[in-house]
Amino acid sequence: MMNSLDVLGWDEQFQREYDAAREALGDDDRLVPARVSADFGMQLEVVGPAGRRRAHLVGKFLGDEDARPAVGDWVILRPLEDGGAMVVELLPRRSRVARQAAMERTKRQIIGANLDVVFVVSSLNQEFNPRRIERFLTAVREGGATPVVVLNKADLVDEPQDFVDEVRESAPEVDVVVTSAAEETGISQLRDFLEQGMTFAFVGSSGVGKSSLINQLSGDEVMAVGDVRDVDNKGRHTTTHRQLLLLPGGALVVDTPGMREFQVWSGDEGLDEVFEDIEELAWECRFRDCKHLKEPGCAVRAAVEAGELAPDRLAQYHKLTRELEQLEQRKREAARRSDERQIQRIGREMQELKKRYLED
Ligand code: GDP
Ligand code: ZN
Repeated sequence: MMNSLDVLGWDEQFQREYDAAREALGDDDRLVPARVSADFGMQLEVVGPAGRRRAHLVGKFLGDEDARPAVGDWVILRPLEDGGAMVVELLPRRSRVARQAAMERTKRQIIGANLDVVFVVSSLNQEFNPRRIERFLTAVREGGATPVVVLNKADLVDEPQDFVDEVRESAPEVDVVVTSAAEETGISQLRDFLEQGMTFAFVGSSGVGKSSLINQLSGDEVMAVGDVRDVDNKGRHTTTHRQLLLLPGGALVVDTPGMREFQVWSGDEGLDEVFEDIEELAWECRFRDCKHLKEPGCAVRAAVEAGELAPDRLAQYHKLTRELEQLEQRKREAARRSDERQIQRIGREMQELKKRYLED
C-alpha cells in the first residue's frame, strides 16, 4: 500500500526538503506536510495524510506573490486546536507556471506549481498558430516544466500530419500528440504521458478543447482531490471548482482558473507590441515598477518632454493600465468570495479590453 503522500506526488526529494525545513522550524512534531489543492485567496485548501482541510497563510506569505503558495505547492502545516491549520512553510518548487500581471513587471503570480509536464493545446482550425505554440513552449520551459504539444480537433482537418510537421520544424525536440476530444481519438497516446504520481496541467487559448480533453481523461471516475461542497454566506450550497484532480491512472492535474486563463501575450496578439515603444523606454526608468506618472527619473515622461513620444500615446497607456488595474481589483475581490463565474467573466473582459487596444 502506498502512503497517501505518494498518491499526491510526494517523493524522496520533497521528503529531504521537508526534513530540512522542519528542522529549521524546531522539529515540532505537530508539523505535517500537505499539498495545496485549491486557492481561495487568504485561505488555501490543502490535502495530506489527514485528508482535506482549509489552511490559513501566515503574514510572511502575503507580501510577495512569488512566495505565496499556489495550487500544486507542497507546504508545511501547523495544525490548530480548533481543527484548522496554518501554512508555516513553502517547500522549494520544482517548476511553476507564472503569470506576469499586465504592465507590472515586478509582480509575478504563480498559477500552478510542481508540474512535471504541461500540455500546450492548440486546435487544428483557424486558431492554429505555430508562433503562439512556440511562445507557450518557451513559457513552460522557463517555468521548469516539460512541455508536450497537443493538436486537438484533428477531426476538422484532412491531414493532421501537415500540422505536426509544421510544429516539429520550429520545435524538433518536443513531443507532439494529435487528438480529437470529439471523436475520442489520440486520447490513449495522451494517457501514455500520465504516469501515476506525476502532475500535469493544460494550457492554450480558450476554446481549443482543454476541458474536453480533461473530461475524456477523467471519464466517470474523476476524483476531485480538491472538491469541496460548502455553504456560501447566503446559506446556499455551492460546489467549488475543482483545482487539483486525481485521474483514474493516478496522475494529478492542476486545473485552476489562472491556468485556464493563462495567455502568452506578445507578438501578433500581445500588449508589449501595442506599447512596445513605452515598454522599451521603461527599461531606462529609475524604478523597475515605474508607472510613468510622477516618479523621479522616468524615462518615458522624459521622452514625451523631449518630443520623442506623443503625449496621446502615454495617455492611452495610462488609460489601459487604469482599466486593467480596476479589473484586477474586482478579480481579487471575486477571488476572496471564491466567485468562479465572476472571475471568468472578468478574465474575458480583460481579454476584450486588450483586443480593443490592439485594434485601435
Ligand atoms: P477550452 O476552453 O480549451 O477548455 O475548450 P473546451 O473543452 O471548452 O472546448 C471548446 C469547444 O470545442 C466545445 O464546444 C467543444 O465541444 C469543442 N471541441 C473540443 N474538442 C473538440 C474536438 O476534438 N473536435 C471538435 N470538432 N470540437 C471540439
Ligand atoms: Zn517611467
